Amino acid sequence: MLEKFGDKAVAQKILEKIKEEAKGIEELRFMHVCGTHEDTVTRSGIRSLLPENVKIMSGPGCPVCITPVEDIVKMMEIMKVAREEREEIILTTFGDMYRIPTPIGSFADLKSQGYDVRIVYSIYDSYKIAKENPDKLVVHFSPGFETTAAPTAGMLESIVEEGLENFKIYSVHRLTPPAVEALLNAGTVFHGLIDPGHVSTIIGVKGWAYLTEKFGIPQVVAGFEPVDVLLGILILIRLVKRGEAKIINEYNRVVKWEGNVKAQELIWKYFEVKDAKWRALGVIPRSGLELKKEWKELEIRTYYNPEVPKLPDLEKGCLCGAVLRGLALPTQCQHFGKTCTPRHPVGPCMVSYEGTCHIFYKYGALM
Ligand code: SF4
Ligand code: SF4
Repeated sequence: MLEKFGDKAVAQKILEKIKEEAKGIEELRFMHVCGTHEDTVTRSGIRSLLPENVKIMSGPGCPVCITPVEDIVKMMEIMKVAREEREEIILTTFGDMYRIPTPIGSFADLKSQGYDVRIVYSIYDSYKIAKENPDKLVVHFSPGFETTAAPTAGMLESIVEEGLENFKIYSVHRLTPPAVEALLNAGTVFHGLIDPGHVSTIIGVKGWAYLTEKFGIPQVVAGFEPVDVLLGILILIRLVKRGEAKIINEYNRVVKWEGNVKAQELIWKYFEVKDAKWRALGVIPRSGLELKKEWKELEIRTYYNPEVPKLPDLEKGCLCGAVLRGLALPTQCQHFGKTCTPRHPVGPCMVSYEGTCHIFYKYGALM
């Protein structure tokens, strides 16, 4: 199994050290909040290589999975209302968002009903579509954590500079540290946090530090190679054993203490923080990014804001809520691999490439 680690010898050494350090200690649970970390952990079979008393939990690390049903449904309603008012909207969004199920269908279903819904790889593609279709309104449904909020803000800057009027966004951007804070406030037990590498390039180590100060929880900012994750785990075990509440930057080849200051300035130029709903997790204080009042003309809900009914977040039996809280693994769900597969997903965690269920299914044999 170690061939998958790139540097097998280094991985082996770190694993031995982890085993040594973990001897005789009580069970330690470490949480990560990143789809790419989950991919690394599952692809490399890290869970099965760790000692019994060291557990890795997957938290709310998939921005598409936690996008509220109400927002997807509202965007679908906006398309319908606009058509009634003889305005054709081109809706753009990412490939996994396109297929996320709600009780009344997905964006993919909307497309099959004859609406213009297009998959894009980045917000820049949506901008190009808007330039090519000056007589149509282009709306980019924009999910994502800090990593995606930064290019969104960058794109808005160009749109404002150019005065491009037929491009709007529907912001469902979310911030990751408040979600971890909410889990800690709710009493979710974990002994250390593996901070997501990409998010940390934007917010910096600094963006996570308050969690250690407030909750005394050790953290490690880790990269995405298997040896990065293993090293992160070793660092956390040592910090816990020494009783040191610290944050260590294992990914210092990329992440800086202050993060990407320019990207942060752009985000805070256009967005402000609001309480926001996370699918299956409820409202999390100060976790959403909304456009500031002075930029409301860039948000589609300023023009169309239809009421939507209250809908259930998940299908009966779907454990996404517990999976996103790090309380269950996908294999504990009755639907997993039977009635729920990437081709026929029951819940959002099976659709997104960053969803834990999707990743578990993809690497099924290695779990
Ligand atoms: S955006 Fe990057 S850091 Fe954030 S969850 Fe996805 S892969 Fe991880
Ligand atoms: S396997 Fe499917 S139904 Fe079960 S938790 Fe995951 S997404 Fe939900």
